[in-house]
Amino acid sequence: MLGLYVHVPFCAAICNYCNFNRGLFQSDLKDLYVAAVCSEIRLRARGVPSDTLFFGGGTPSILEPEEIGAIIQACRDSFDLTADAEVTLEANPEGVTEERLAAFREAGVNRLSFGVQSFRDEELRRLTRLHSAGRAITAFREARAAGFDNVSLDLMMWLPQQTVGEWLESVDALVDLGPDHASLYMLEVYPNSPLREQMARAEWSVAPDDDVADMYLQSMERLDAAGYEQYEISNVAKPGRRSRHNLKYWTDGEWLGFGPGAHSTIDGVRTRNVSSTGAYASAVVPGESLLALVAEARPLSPRERMEEALFTGLRLSEGLSTEAVRARYGIDLWAEFGGELQPFRDLGWLIYDEGRLRLTRAGMLLAHEIMAVFIRPS
Ligand code: SF4
Repeated sequence: MLGLYVHVPFCAAICNYCNFNRGLFQSDLKDLYVAAVCSEIRLRARGVPSDTLFFGGGTPSILEPEEIGAIIQACRDSFDLTADAEVTLEANPEGVTEERLAAFREAGVNRLSFGVQSFRDEELRRLTRLHSAGRAITAFREARAAGFDNVSLDLMMWLPQQTVGEWLESVDALVDLGPDHASLYMLEVYPNSPLREQMARAEWSVAPDDDVADMYLQSMERLDAAGYEQYEISNVAKPGRRSRHNLKYWTDGEWLGFGPGAHSTIDGVRTRNVSSTGAYASAVVPGESLLALVAEARPLSPRERMEEALFTGLRLSEGLSTEAVRARYGIDLWAEFGGELQPFRDLGWLIYDEGRLRLTRAGMLLAHEIMAVFIRPS
């Protein structure tokens, strides 16, 4: 089944660490964007079943519920969206109320993903986020009151000045709320980001590597104890609540992305839309070809497809099935890579048994190093 992704490129303010494709909210541009994205969806219509629709950003919850409803309708008209499709909206805690969330639900959204990042106000201020910890807790309760039984919260670790204990305070606050799903990411401080300059000016530092390992391992242990199942390096869920949409990215699935900068992978071809929202809005002309909005399109070579499948598959807790890899890509995984993988197995970072290859938790911390084995010079 196909996954559908809609990129909403607007935010109320730009956070100092952000590296996503987004810009400040402008009402006129937003109107043009909504019309353009509905047209793009209709131009790409295919009579194929789809079971997930994900609004990512940016800040999708900045759109009005009727606008989200119009985009969902365009998807329903253009694709065979299943009756039980997972429809996720990324939301920021400061921009919602119970009424607004109920209206999103009425419009067809059935899963929310809140960008909380931290339950400590001091850390949120360092990240220039607009919400407080109290607002995030209230937003979660408003989501429940509005009838959402599938809510995910995002947290970020390795924040400037954050200690292991402070990170675990946020994890405990999340466990107390009891969301259905959680994503735990490590903050990446990009070169040239305002945060990097701020850190230099204020002499903020991040915890040493050993502490980051503690942050990761201790938080996962607390989440295990609270009944969450880790199913991917950064993601945990209550039983039955894994993100069906994100699993498509990690299991070699196909998806169509709409909106500025959105990527698609379908029929073995990877495409990327133009990034600028203004250029995107003027490139989409109802009833005309899509050529002007595609910035890049290239067929993936069989080798690239296999490398991606190995990379993403190893991110999953269940790892890779050697039989599935053989059936799909015609290689014996262990015969091909076993020599280079064995040292990681000896260190306890990798398990190879029962026809599966998977990372241990300790291995997940060093996933990039281990996955580098799969890249062969072309
Ligand atoms: S709200 Fe999210 S997308 Fe928007 S600027 Fe902040 S981090 Fe970036």
